[in-house]
Amino acid sequence: MKKIHLDGYKKFKKEYFKDNKKLFDELALGQNPHSMIITCSDSRVSPVKILSGTPGELFIARNIGNIVPPYDRTKGATQSAIEYAVNVLKVESLIVLGHSACGACSHLYHEKTEDEEHVELSHVDEWLTLAYPAKHEALLECMHNPEKNRAEITEKNNIQLSIQRLMTYPYVVEALENKTMEIHGWWYNVGTGDLEAYDYTTKTFKKISSE
Ligand SMILES: [Zn+2]
Repeated sequence: MKKIHLDGYKKFKKEYFKDNKKLFDELALGQNPHSMIITCSDSRVSPVKILSGTPGELFIARNIGNIVPPYDRTKGATQSAIEYAVNVLKVESLIVLGHSACGACSHLYHEKTEDEEHVELSHVDEWLTLAYPAKHEALLECMHNPEKNRAEITEKNNIQLSIQRLMTYPYVVEALENKTMEIHGWWYNVGTGDLEAYDYTTKTFKKISSE
């Protein structure tokens, strides 16, 4: 194991854990997160860090490309996490968090990094077929506007697509109808640290003020 991991653990145990012992005593009895975040597996995206959160606040499901599969397709980890978060934990917010320079979104265009060249990625390829509608919409948007940032448009479309897919989950719709839960789409800019939220009235992503 790399030394950095163990050094980090020692620091956590000696400092953060010790300073927050009361919190960990409570967490040992159970969890009561206020929000669920569905985000990309990408190592650069750390929801707890971005939101300055504490353990126990965020119920997080991660997968390649922050994808929400349709309700009736391929029962799996993401669907299970959504079901548990909404029906058992009764989270107040469900947030789909996408990000800039998303490898999953660029993979939709068969753009490969040097590391990806000559590597069989059958599971990734199959999984990402779920995000094709985000690519197709981006192609149409960029058709006559070559100056548009196709990668960013695809990433943002993919967030909206995941939200639309959430609406195929009956208990998600029910929670919205009962006003017990909100849904948000956020796009995180890795390079600037900015967070943008999808605005349902203007149908655009708007920067969230950090002031
Ligand atoms: Zn990503």
